[in-house]
Amino acid sequence: MTKETAGVVRESGQAGGGPGTLYIVATPIGNLEDLSPRAEKVLSSVAVVAAEDTRHSGRLLQHLGLRKPMIALHEHNERERVERVLNELQAGKDLALISDAGTPLISDPGYIVVREARALGIRVSPIPGACALVTALSAAGLPTDRFLFAGFLPAKRNGRKAALESLKREQATLVFYESPHRILDTLADMVEVLGSGRELVLGRELTKTFETFYSGRAEAVLDELQSDPHGTRGEFVVVVRGAESSGDAAGESGLDVDKLLALLLAELPVKKAARIVAELTGGSKNELYQRALGLKER
Ligand code: SAM
Repeated sequence: MTKETAGVVRESGQAGGGPGTLYIVATPIGNLEDLSPRAEKVLSSVAVVAAEDTRHSGRLLQHLGLRKPMIALHEHNERERVERVLNELQAGKDLALISDAGTPLISDPGYIVVREARALGIRVSPIPGACALVTALSAAGLPTDRFLFAGFLPAKRNGRKAALESLKREQATLVFYESPHRILDTLADMVEVLGSGRELVLGRELTKTFETFYSGRAEAVLDELQSDPHGTRGEFVVVVRGAESSGDAAGESGLDVDKLLALLLAELPVKKAARIVAELTGGSKNELYQRALGLKER
């Protein structure tokens, strides 16, 4: 049932007779036993399945003993296939959207379909399950109270380094996806941009037979992966500890912050000295201002 008041669309369980429901169904990221009973129930009940790769997902359906009409919906044709998906829903059919692995829309197609379905008042119902980023984060042993999922970094080195540069001072835990042929380059760029001492945890082949976690300082993890003959095989999630607080970031720069402030304070007003040190070290202007005031008083 869909209700609209003051621009807010509220939709809940079906009243029947209207459009079908679009189910967003999470599938396993490696271990077929991670498919939930509810996901299986929904997949067997829907009229149509929209999948990223119909051959790949066809095997999952076959494993469940199901045969369903399928619509291929991948990154390159999503815009053009939206209409077909919406037509099926508007004709009253229930449809399940699945991707090759894990939760659809998480670095996977589906955003346009979900957005347009919602705009038409079609019920969109998520069937939660595996997701590589949450799976890795839950076992990484890094803070999970705040995290930033950055998906795949750019494929080219310059773009990748620029993206890492923009995340360097982020204090939340960072989570990235990476492919086997880029993992070593990405780790090398992390060492260079985020620093060799930045703590990270690499989750490889999660939920599969060769599931492995590598954890430690960025440089050590890179060395370990390089020396492991199977190290670059499989799929990866990289979980990186966020930056220390900006006051500590100043300390991390390797410069003696207090000495620098004291030298500048002999020549400049507090505010200016703090601004220059913030510029040089990447520390917080406010925190350095307070620190400079303290030094001046002393
Ligand atoms: N929608 C998926 C999800 O919910 O996690 C992610 C799809 S994205 C196209 C594929 C990437 O997810 C892989 O390149 C890898 O970085 C990560 N990934 C997927 N399965 C994984 C696994 N079993 N172990 C480690 N990483 C995995």
